Amino acid sequence: MSDVVDEPTQPARVRRPAPAWQSGEVVEVVVETPETSSLRILLPQPEPFVPGQYYNIRIPVEGRPRPIQRAYSVGSSPHPRFDVIEVGVKEMEGGLVSPVLVRQRPVGSILEVRGPYGAFTWTEEDGGPVLLVGAGSGVVPLMAMIRYQVSKGTTIPMHLVFSSKSAEYVIYREELVELTQQHSWLRVTHTFTRDAIDPLARYHRRIDKEMVGDVFLETSPRLAYLCGPPDMVDDCERSLLELGMEPTGIKTEKYD
Ligand SMILES: Cc1cc2nc3c(=O)[nH]c(=O)nc-3n(C[C@H](O)[C@H](O)[C@H](O)COP(=O)(O)OP(=O)(O)OC[C@H]3O[C@@H](n4cnc5c(N)ncnc54)[C@H](O)[C@@H]3O)c2cc1C
Repeated sequence: MSDVVDEPTQPARVRRPAPAWQSGEVVEVVVETPETSSLRILLPQPEPFVPGQYYNIRIPVEGRPRPIQRAYSVGSSPHPRFDVIEVGVKEMEGGLVSPVLVRQRPVGSILEVRGPYGAFTWTEEDGGPVLLVGAGSGVVPLMAMIRYQVSKGTTIPMHLVFSSKSAEYVIYREELVELTQQHSWLRVTHTFTRDAIDPLARYHRRIDKEMVGDVFLETSPRLAYLCGPPDMVDDCERSLLELGMEPTGIKTEKYD
């Protein structure tokens, strides 16, 4: 990813003022997996956001003349409150920003954030059934959609297909178990890429065409949300189109 992320242009009909940078306070840090932490950030100037959107975060980096910014999806639901956002950051080895966020931004730290941005969004008005496919930290915006539906009390069928290295690396593992026990509209299918036997996962390989075919038949999705590495997102989108999904029913977010 380049050091400077272009500000997305708003569609002409929306015409909202561009969000300004604000100093958010880290009010809680949750260690999700050995490489991913969730940071809950209290915003002084909160903006309503839609599940699936992201914020930009910028930090000073030694040797760089300007702060370096990166995009991070919001994993929390905007309902009932949007003044605290939770971002889930996976540490990329050798990265400029993510290792700092995961390791050096404890509770009480101040972070410069700007947002919300993005059209990778879902609310109950979009309907379903919804197929959610995420790999690694690509689950973050999908979790915002799930948590949002929980907090709104709607029951639109959602099937999350989630690829992780192994059980230890499943972000939101306990919460997903609890939510599937509490809500019959939610189904979660795990696949583990570096574990061949753990029964928590139904599959033990990367997301592929056959897997997408299985969950497509089980879910009959009207909408699909795909998030994660660009290759995974592209392959999965191609498979869904071949299975007959309407292109307009597929939304993608690529973490490049
Ligand atoms: C819309 C959007 C939402 C996103 N949401 C999330 C999210 O919710 N959670 C999340 O964890 N991520 C998310 N990302 C990804 C995130 O924005 C960053 O790209 C990610 O955290 C890596 O940033 P970094 O500064 O740590 O790494 P970078 O400095 O960008 O480096 C990335 C990788 O490239 C390697 N690299 C860098 N320079 C070189 C070089 N010259 N040669 C070889 N290798 C090099 C680094 O070692 C590292 O492994 C999102 C991205 C987008 C576009």
